[in-house]
Amino acid sequence: MSPPPMVSYRKGMFADEPLAEDSFSAHYFEFEATCHHEAAHAVSEYVFGNSLEFVGVKTEYLTQPDGSIDVMVGGEVRRIHRSARVCVNYDYRPMLFVVGVVAAAGPAGERRYRYERGAPMRLLGASEGDHLAIDTIGKSLERRGRSRFAFRRHVWWHAQKLIAHDIVWRAISDIAKELSDTGITRGSEPDVHWRQLLPQDVYRICRRHGLKQGIARVA
Ligand SMILES: [Zn+2]
Repeated sequence: MSPPPMVSYRKGMFADEPLAEDSFSAHYFEFEATCHHEAAHAVSEYVFGNSLEFVGVKTEYLTQPDGSIDVMVGGEVRRIHRSARVCVNYDYRPMLFVVGVVAAAGPAGERRYRYERGAPMRLLGASEGDHLAIDTIGKSLERRGRSRFAFRRHVWWHAQKLIAHDIVWRAISDIAKELSDTGITRGSEPDVHWRQLLPQDVYRICRRHGLKQGIARVA
């Protein structure tokens, strides 16, 4: 299936359609969309040459005062921060670009999943952290006389292009499937179920699809 048409930052990141009508498909779509969202963050970290520390999705069961249970899904991808590494002549711009594209890639991956399945376009909630990360960089660029909105557009455009690549999308889909089907379930709190993938397994799936770590590295 072909990727979704490119849309503006606002139309993509702030899409807020209502949940699917029956609660079973609503939960299924939201969970699978979250798996694709986190998988897209993970694959983009890998192609930009970053190493992963944690890739996971969680389902939280929140008991309401009336006894009903709300189900919330969320996730997290953490990169390994190499703070010990010393960089001389460091140019901050490529790094800001990469951080921005990785942040935008999660919503872009989620969007492609929702487009292909005909699931409601609901990106606002899950993308809030990504949007804030992009805006934090944008504001710092603004203090240097650059346009925050141009930065938004720029990283969102590149994230959509990245997700549109067949091999990138196949790797994301497989990682999302692994997370959804067979991820390690880890639960320290009884009402929170984590499914996570080991970084090595993420790398293996990427390599099987022909991706190499750092293949999209920016100079
Ligand atoms: Zn995200």
